[in-house]
Amino acid sequence: MTHILEKYEVWFVTGSQHLYGEETLKQVAEHAQAIASGLNTNEKVPVRIVFKPVVTTPDEIYKVCQEANVAPDCIGIIAWMHTFSPAKMWIGGLKVLQKPLLHLHTQYNRDIPWATIDMDFMNLNQSAHGDREFGFMLSRMRLNRKVVVGHWQQEDVVERLNIWTRAAAARHDLQGARFVRFGDNMRQVAVTEGDKVAAEMQFGYSVNGYGVGDLVKVLNEVPDAAIDQLCAEYEDSYNLASTLRKGGDQNSSLREAARIELGIRNFLETGNFKGYTNTFEDLHGMVQLPGIASQRLMAAGYGFGAEGDWKTAAMLRAMKVMATGLPGGNSFMEDYTYHFADPANPADSQLVLGAHMLEICESIADGKPHCEVHPLGIGGKADPVRLVFNVAAGPALNVSVIDMGNRFRILANEVEAVAPPHDLPKLPVARVLWKPQPDMQTGCAAWIQAGGAHHTVYSQNLSVEYIEDFADMVGVELVTIDKDTRLRQFQNELRWNEVYYQMKGGF
Ligand code: MN
Repeated sequence: MTHILEKYEVWFVTGSQHLYGEETLKQVAEHAQAIASGLNTNEKVPVRIVFKPVVTTPDEIYKVCQEANVAPDCIGIIAWMHTFSPAKMWIGGLKVLQKPLLHLHTQYNRDIPWATIDMDFMNLNQSAHGDREFGFMLSRMRLNRKVVVGHWQQEDVVERLNIWTRAAAARHDLQGARFVRFGDNMRQVAVTEGDKVAAEMQFGYSVNGYGVGDLVKVLNEVPDAAIDQLCAEYEDSYNLASTLRKGGDQNSSLREAARIELGIRNFLETGNFKGYTNTFEDLHGMVQLPGIASQRLMAAGYGFGAEGDWKTAAMLRAMKVMATGLPGGNSFMEDYTYHFADPANPADSQLVLGAHMLEICESIADGKPHCEVHPLGIGGKADPVRLVFNVAAGPALNVSVIDMGNRFRILANEVEAVAPPHDLPKLPVARVLWKPQPDMQTGCAAWIQAGGAHHTVYSQNLSVEYIEDFADMVGVELVTIDKDTRLRQFQNELRWNEVYYQMKGGF
């Protein structure tokens, strides 16, 4: 997971034409090479930026687009028109291009050279109108792309490019990705259901069911020595409850939890899966519901969704890929319970308590987690081992994917996590408290009006822009709830989107 971005590359493609002569084209190539190499060596850009020879004819453009489509490590194209590249030349290539496109609207020089500027300079450095010609064609063809404006050495330009490359890496990672669904859905639950055929067409990943017995077989084959070793790792990594330690009267629960983690990990590795779902209603032959196992497998980069929630499992995997190497974490999450607060006390804020029965990723833990065992209360299995921790204060994001029947919808709500105002000594699960933006009433009402799920991906290190870029690349609706959200406008946006996506589906 740590190095997943290193093998990926983005192609830097510069458009021009033959009108200006060989000398100008030579300079175009030199400038393009300098920009590509500047971006490539910038440590804020997490993938390789590969310079491609300047394209000047429809055939060259078509060829580079086709090559990008089949290059296994190419996750997208950055296009820039240094000069003027008549855009009818681009139709053939853009028609077949299947990789994400970033239109970098920049120029080689930052400033106008006031004292020396002449018509030669103007003819060479004309992306201000060359990129408009290119932009027209993309709009004319109704093609999604990100437009980044500014000098290529500017920090904010590089950051926007960084965000796009990470979203492109997540999209690329999902193409052909496989997710396991152990058992089916939690019975009668609606929002975790959805059209897996449509999801594979839209996002590129497949979800397939496996009997819990297939997993139990693998669990039963886990050797004792491996369980010993993992229990020792638990003891080193966490504040382990004394009853769970070697010789403690609940040590067998810890050993069972370790068996489950090793078994699921083995199953995922053997089948080359990128994530999984399970449900507490279908654990036939398993001793406990996986708790610490799911928490640690998420931390290792696997997507996970409880109660059969494969959409959230895939989104979590995608967000973990986007966030590779960034400080902070991403976890499966659920809006669990509320603190509506005392209106007479201005210091008492309205809060959401996010948690799950067990499965919160340890990548978002504030400090060393406690490893404990407690009864679950539902599911009728033995007490499951879990990691218990708080989550640090700071800005965060909740992201949900739902199936609206005629399309998928991604929702993103900016939130502000706060340190727990009180101890929670009897709460035996990992938890986080947050204030939704723009406020509790508007944030929750907008979420519910949009049909947002109770399951989300909680992110400490991704902004809405990552999700925006990702949604754009996979052609999925995104609705955002942030500090500027006003309910009336938001509800209109939902209505307008309904019409837009209904029409788009018919194209
Ligand atoms: Mn749940």
